[in-house]
Amino acid sequence: MTPEQAVTPKPAVEPEQAEQPGRADLAAWWDDRPTNFYDASPNLARVLDRWAGPAAREKIEPALRDFGAAVATVVEPSVVVREAHRELPAHVPFDGIGRRIERIEFHPAYETAGRAIWASGMLAGGGDQPSPFELTALFYLLSHCGEGGHACPVVCTAGAIRALEHRGDTALQERFLPGLHQRDYGSSLRASQFLTEVQGGSDVGANAARAVADPDSAGAWRISGEKWFCSVADADLFVVTARPDGAPDGTRGLGCFAVPRTLDGSTPNGFRIRRLKDKLGTRALASAEIDFDDALGWPIGPIDRGFHVAVEELLNTSRWLNAVGSTGIMRRAYLEASAFARHRQAFGRPVGSFPLVRAQLARMKAEEYAALSSTMALAGLVARTDDGRADEREAGAHRFLVNANKYLTSICATDVARRGIEVLGGNGTIEDFSPLPRLYRDAMVYESWEGTHNVLSAQVLRDCARYGILDHTLGWVHAELERAGTFGPDTATVEAALNATASRLWRSVDAAATGGPDAAPHVRRQLEAFMRAVQAACLLTEVAAEGGGSDKAAATALFVRQHVTPGYEPEDDLEWAGLVEGTLAGDAG
Ligand SMILES: Cc1cc2nc3c(=O)[nH]c(=O)nc-3n(C[C@H](O)[C@H](O)[C@H](O)COP(=O)(O)OP(=O)(O)OC[C@H]3O[C@@H](n4cnc5c(N)ncnc54)[C@H](O)[C@@H]3O)c2cc1C
Repeated sequence: MTPEQAVTPKPAVEPEQAEQPGRADLAAWWDDRPTNFYDASPNLARVLDRWAGPAAREKIEPALRDFGAAVATVVEPSVVVREAHRELPAHVPFDGIGRRIERIEFHPAYETAGRAIWASGMLAGGGDQPSPFELTALFYLLSHCGEGGHACPVVCTAGAIRALEHRGDTALQERFLPGLHQRDYGSSLRASQFLTEVQGGSDVGANAARAVADPDSAGAWRISGEKWFCSVADADLFVVTARPDGAPDGTRGLGCFAVPRTLDGSTPNGFRIRRLKDKLGTRALASAEIDFDDALGWPIGPIDRGFHVAVEELLNTSRWLNAVGSTGIMRRAYLEASAFARHRQAFGRPVGSFPLVRAQLARMKAEEYAALSSTMALAGLVARTDDGRADEREAGAHRFLVNANKYLTSICATDVARRGIEVLGGNGTIEDFSPLPRLYRDAMVYESWEGTHNVLSAQVLRDCARYGILDHTLGWVHAELERAGTFGPDTATVEAALNATASRLWRSVDAAATGGPDAAPHVRRQLEAFMRAVQAACLLTEVAAEGGGSDKAAATALFVRQHVTPGYEPEDDLEWAGLVEGTLAGDAG
């Protein structure tokens, strides 16, 4: 061989490449990916029928179908472009002639996705304002892309809208709501919420940021201090907690302020961005550390009720939607993994034909069905609370689920994404092979923000002791089961599990009522067990409404055995294999 022959470049595309069957299988898998996430998840319509009613579902269906297509064909490709090319947000502190601007710059694909998301009407106002069911369904579809850089801005904006609508004075409402409700991304206002400081995220009562009344402007305050985790650092409106001088220590002394990014359209309103954080997940989202120095702001609601506003309007919104986001991540992980398993061959068979893989897929699907069920039930409670129809029991169940459901669904999302990665094998760990690594990293962040598991558990304990919401939740879920009617032997199992797990959780409530949360070290296990029974009950009511005989009936039976039936051992269960097959039916998985 001559030296010239040795260096002859190979053609860019290997001729044999097209014939490699493994690659052709992978190409077929990619070609098989959904182009509309609404059509790819028929269970969403069924869940809406159960909790919102068929008429409400029919009304919003065209918007969901349009958005399902937009997420698959516009939002997802834009997220891929940004993450694959590491085109993450950039902090631009100064303009070219040295003036401080504190801008965040994004890849153009980010704006493309934003336009499609805002056009969905997720944040629209007036007669177009989405119901909690519609917002849940739209946000579920969006979350098929993970956080995607826009989910957090949507949630923060939705929270700010609720805070202003429910607690803001007329001047604040007139100033900010029209922009926050805009469907046009280019002219919309986006909001953020800054509570966390470096000395503690969980311990919000330790907030040190200060507020002093502005001597020059009646009703306005000057905010100073450092905020440590500031997502949507590009927002037009920051909602910030700060302590007025002389206010009590702890959460009782906090005010909640609307702080515009700029007062004149360009100059930063008394803030400087220290840096953007380099994060494990939610990477396309701009999360910063920010110093405030005499930023001008206005209180949302009474100044001494700031923490209530932050919890009841902002955090309750973001915890509900965090659960929706986790559920969307689970569904996408299942769609990816089940389609892969249909196409990928090993040992001369599709990997989806191996019983061990089928068991994994069935578990993923059942987990997602359960998460969507409890989360849509929560959306129903949000709707009834919003329009004043919720009775005491429903209001208590809402308060309970908003925290407990966030906790459970966020753990399940990480678990389901991890199982999806396992189905894809080593390829599952490769960033541009599938979205699963990104979904897994985002799910991990969802576990912490909006309240860690321990903090949410402690909150549930406090609320149960103070407001009796465990009994309210128990009463609500029993009533839902009763209304749905008995559906096979699982109903009795779930009824019994609800009572048994509630009484175990009561032990922690009682212990914490006297000794504080430190006296309840088993609360998480107990809370999870109770929530599994709640999810099983929600699923059973759906199965009853649908008349049984579906993949959901099998998934529910599997779920009840796995999570609710005491001492269940699948190897002793002669029906187990049939339930796995029944769960996967309809997906040809
Ligand atoms: C990517 C990202 C973006 C974020 N964006 C925002 C934002 O925009 N605005 C905002 O305000 N915050 C934001 N956060 C902050 C988030 O809300 C906090 O991380 C969270 O509240 C936890 O606070 P921490 O990180 O300080 O944890 P810590 O409070 O330091 O807790 C550390 C550990 O101790 C445990 N712990 C704490 N207290 C107790 C207790 N009493 N009992 C038992 N265990 C306890 C926690 O569960 C946790 O496991 C963001 C976080 C992330 C990761």
